[in-house]
Amino acid sequence: MDAAEFRRRGKEMVDFVADYLENIEHRRVYPDVEPGYLRSMIPSEAPLEPESYEDVLKDVDRVIMPGITHWQSPHFHAYFPSASSYPALLADMLCGGLGCIGFTWAASPACTELETVMLDWLGKMLQLPEDFLAGTKGQGGGVIQGTASEATLMALLAARCKAVKCVHESDPQRSEADIISKLIAYTSEEAHSSVERAGLIGGVGIRMVATDEHFSVRAETLEKMVAEDKAAGFIPFFFCATLGTTPSCAFDKITELGPLCNAENIWMHIDAAYAGSSFICPEFRPLLDGVEFADSFNFNPHKWLLVNFDCSAMWVKKRTDLIGAFKLDPVYLKYDNQESGLVTDYRHWGIPLGRRFRSLKLWFVFRMYGQSGLQAYIRKHVELAKVFETMVKKDKRFEICAEVVLGLVCFRLKGSDELNEALLKEMTHLGRIHLVPCKLRGRFVLRFAVCGRTTELRHVQEAWTHITELSSELLLKHHS
Ligand code: PLP
Repeated sequence: MDAAEFRRRGKEMVDFVADYLENIEHRRVYPDVEPGYLRSMIPSEAPLEPESYEDVLKDVDRVIMPGITHWQSPHFHAYFPSASSYPALLADMLCGGLGCIGFTWAASPACTELETVMLDWLGKMLQLPEDFLAGTKGQGGGVIQGTASEATLMALLAARCKAVKCVHESDPQRSEADIISKLIAYTSEEAHSSVERAGLIGGVGIRMVATDEHFSVRAETLEKMVAEDKAAGFIPFFFCATLGTTPSCAFDKITELGPLCNAENIWMHIDAAYAGSSFICPEFRPLLDGVEFADSFNFNPHKWLLVNFDCSAMWVKKRTDLIGAFKLDPVYLKYDNQESGLVTDYRHWGIPLGRRFRSLKLWFVFRMYGQSGLQAYIRKHVELAKVFETMVKKDKRFEICAEVVLGLVCFRLKGSDELNEALLKEMTHLGRIHLVPCKLRGRFVLRFAVCGRTTELRHVQEAWTHITELSSELLLKHHS
């Protein structure tokens, strides 16, 4: 393919994507394929000779599209949203075209510098304390990680490094291995599994903290666990708070947990993967109160801020905690201005060396929506969730299972888990709307998340009609 053909095919691809997104609601949201469906549809080896672009595209339709779960469909209500917008798609196209890899400032100065400034812009939109911003003189700063899971892992590893150093200073005889074997991290029993996984990867013990009746971790509970662990010779060093838990969008009480962590020299990381985007709205910003006590904070613009995957924003108060933990300087990565104090080398801030020019997506989206456009988008989703909640509450056969704060509604048919499982199974089988379940206090609960950029009131109403019709049939069967 030469440049002339690329121009032609590129324009066709833009049309293909625009057509797909414009007509997405007419597709079955959840694919009707069985595991292993794809292998038999394509050859068992890569072609020896080149094939035509037409043939490749034909196979996109034949092989790929039947196996797509349509995350951007207005009928998609599973998990949490995966953001998408036209400005972000265009920025991603530019990113691919530039093809630069910004691991050091010199490897692509614009890639590095735009990232630092965009994270400052975004930090200001959230009214993060000044400490988290890089500015021109600050000690903090932001970085784009691929996912919230990586951000949590990086925070845990930086905290581990800091704790080891700290204990070693007061007890130089103690080996690093011995110290690490005594380190204990904490997170909510409602936290995302990525936090437990960070503990496994980081090779430290992790304990789950019980939550109160609102599914929130309270300081009193954590305080007791920390005291117990210290008395048993362990070293509490890390707490991952969640703002907007995956099952029910619950909020840990960071205004009381923060001071405890600070007093106990425990690194507090905040995972606000989904809910974080809402903090750009003044009315939701109080949910972030207490962030001033945190050492690091993370949320995913790729969930709810119209920036396509992947773009997970992470800030630290003291960037040297993160950078200092994993710094290596091979000669092939050195360059002239490295020690000027004016440059950032993002390779020190995360696991990979290579990194894409992801801040372009933020820049395009911020400028083309404006803060007001982004706020309006968040508010619309929250309002739609409230509409859904009201409809559930009006139907006495159902119950709401957790407070609806943002765009997620947890609900269930009053009755057995089996009944609710059967309802979800039928919904998934029909593929008209897509939801996933969660467990709350051991009970099987359905999660209705407002996800799509194009989800309107009518989609929410249609979804509810579909759910109630299926429920009526099911209850009839159940009672007959
Ligand atoms: N944390 C929370 C609270 C989440 O809800 C999720 C995903 O939904 C994650 C972490 C994982 O996000 P990621 O895929 O960016 O690692």
